[in-house]
This record gives sequence, structure tokens and C-alpha cells, in this order.
Amino acid sequence: MENGSPITGVMICGAGHSGSTLLGLILGRAEGAFYVGEGAKIRYLHDLNKPLRKRACKVCGEACPVWSGFHWDQSRPLYRQVAAHTGARIIVDSTKNAAWIRARSDELTAAGDAGALIFLQRDGRAVLNSRFRKYPERDAAGQIRSWMDQITDSREVFSAYEGPKTVVRYEELATRPEAVIRQICEVAGLPFRAEMLAFNDGESHPLGGNTGTQFVAARGKVANDPDAILKLTPRTHDYYAKHSGGIKLDLRWKTEMSAPHLALFNDMAGGFNADMAWEEET
Ligand SMILES: [Zn+2]
Repeated sequence: MENGSPITGVMICGAGHSGSTLLGLILGRAEGAFYVGEGAKIRYLHDLNKPLRKRACKVCGEACPVWSGFHWDQSRPLYRQVAAHTGARIIVDSTKNAAWIRARSDELTAAGDAGALIFLQRDGRAVLNSRFRKYPERDAAGQIRSWMDQITDSREVFSAYEGPKTVVRYEELATRPEAVIRQICEVAGLPFRAEMLAFNDGESHPLGGNTGTQFVAARGKVANDPDAILKLTPRTHDYYAKHSGGIKLDLRWKTEMSAPHLALFNDMAGGFNADMAWEEET
């Protein structure tokens, strides 16, 4: 066991484009917490063969006061090292990859530390719309299959996880944030505080993750910096440049998704998506 008082690792599983950057930023504002972003990107720190956005803090770039001085010693538990480096005792990681979660969970157990796993789910139509927007050149059916595979992997890692765990629906997080965050805090043993709901206040040093959400969170620092990694693209500019900064439900798929894409999704994944489909109350 490593020396020092126990820490808590809070891990998020699920599929990409489900709101895990938002959830990570929120949980990272718990007292004593630090949100690493997608922790698996720690492998790429200082690796000049990787693009800047994958090997440096998305907000600060290479001059980041947190990550510029961090070097992972792979013989020691990762979250312990991040905790020692940042002074945090709660480490939040939105990597989502099942093998990564199993490895970190084993480290936490071996070190006598606490862990919690959150399975973040979102209506597959919204997830796929976001992916079709970002990767219009990729095969649509392949992207739908990839999402289903990620959900299946997440179900497996979640089902096998022996520590505290909970399922969270993105749409509930976005519409009833305080109730959902309180519930997560209770499960994970985090102290709730109202500041967590203001995810765009304060500092963040995320590795990887969703650029639009990070832009909203760090707007004051990056919006007028021509060298910032966090830049909106023509594809995302209208939505995020006007974003209020509060937590709000993103249902762009309803107006953006093409009829052929929706038909393909329903054909391939309609049943698979049934318990994740979000129907608005009217
Ligand atoms: Zn930073």
C-alpha cells in the first residue's frame, strides 16, 4: 500500500458523446476533487508524436501548471500520483474505456483506496447525431455499431464492478442537475456543494474530452487567445458561442439528424436504444 491517507477515484463509463465531459467538470468541483479529463491521455503527456490536443491540457496547452510537471510512474497507482501532485483527495476520470477502468479500479483496491463507477447513458439518437456531425466522412452503420459495442462493454464493466456504482441518464442530469448530482455524491461518498452546478466557474485542466463543453467552461481564458487549443469549429460555433454556460439539455438531434440516418438508426438500434430513449414530457 502507498503511504498517505486514502483517496477516492470516481470513474465514468459509457459511450463517447454522452456528456461525460460535462459530468466530469461538475464532479471536479466537489471540495477536494480534481477532474483529470480523460485520464488515459496521461499516457500521451510530453509525447511529441501526439497532436497537442491529445498530449496537453486542453485549456492551458503545454504551459499548464498541473500537467507540465507531471510524469506518470507506471509502477505506482495513477490516481495516487495525481492526488499527490494536485493536493486533491478525489480524482475524477471520464476515460470510459473498460480496460482502463478495470486497471484503475484494481490499483485503487490494491492501495486500500475507495472507488466509484458511474455509467452515464444518453439517448443513442443524440449520441449518433453528435458523431455524424463530427465525422461526416465515416460510415454511418459502422458508427452505430461502434456505439452499441461501447454500451455493451460499459454494461459488462459496470455489472462486474464491485464497489459503489450508479447509472445516470444524461437527460436527467441536464434537466434535474441538483437532484442527480446529489445522488451521485451520495453513492460515491463525495461532499455535495452548490458550486458543483456552476461547472463553468473556476479552473479546469482537462486532458482530452469534448471541446464545445470545455470551451463553455473556460471561455474567459480561451475565447480571445488565438493560440488556444479550445477552438470552436464552424460545425459547433453557433451552438457553443451562444451557450449560456448553465447546464442545459442538448436535443440537437431532433432538428439536425437526417431522415435516412434516423431510419438507419431505428432499423439497427431502435430496440437496443429502447431503455435509453428520452421522450420529452409535454
Ligand atoms: Zn491546464
